[in-house]
Amino acid sequence: MSVEYTEEEKSVINNFDKLDSNYWNSDLEHLKTIRSKIRKYYLEVLDNKCCYCQMLKQENHGSTWDVEHILPKALYPRYMFELTNLSVSCKECNQAKLDKEICTKPIKAYPRTGNNIKIVHPNFDIYKDHIKVVMAPDGKIFHTPLNGSKKARETIVACNLFRFQEEAFGKENSYKKSVSDKLSEVFASMNFENLTEDQRKIAIKTAVECIFN
Ligand SMILES: [Zn+2]
Repeated sequence: MSVEYTEEEKSVINNFDKLDSNYWNSDLEHLKTIRSKIRKYYLEVLDNKCCYCQMLKQENHGSTWDVEHILPKALYPRYMFELTNLSVSCKECNQAKLDKEICTKPIKAYPRTGNNIKIVHPNFDIYKDHIKVVMAPDGKIFHTPLNGSKKARETIVACNLFRFQEEAFGKENSYKKSVSDKLSEVFASMNFENLTEDQRKIAIKTAVECIFN
């Protein structure tokens, strides 16, 4: 599976001077179809999920989501059409990440692995190895780093995935309330009051796992 371009589209790509990042959004003929082909391709690859927050795209029209330049086009215009540097992200992640530098050191060619990339690279790294999308009992989701993943933490900061936590732990504390209700329920079923100290520790661990798995 790949993106197939027409001859006209190929020439628009080949004519790019690799310097001016505004080229991407210029009204040049054929650019629109190039962008939409890339968007369609990555929506399929990602199963209609944002490459950074994994939120499901529920609208059917393409206008609300952006083609994402993983190494930002403002800093790396030369990789504007490099397929490995492209993905699809929701508006919020895209706008939060914007032109942030994500390489840990200067590069001469497009990287072949995620090793020197600060964030979880959608095409090199396996998302699930770094970030766990937790669903709270009330159905709201938020993101936590797995195994202390530094890439996860960098992604959460760069794409402002904190916004999900704000929503989940919101003002009304709906999340806290639902967790504490659920915990009380689990502890009651375990007869927590009558457990020894050691048994309680195990019970707490089990209860937390019950809730977040
Ligand atoms: Zn997103």
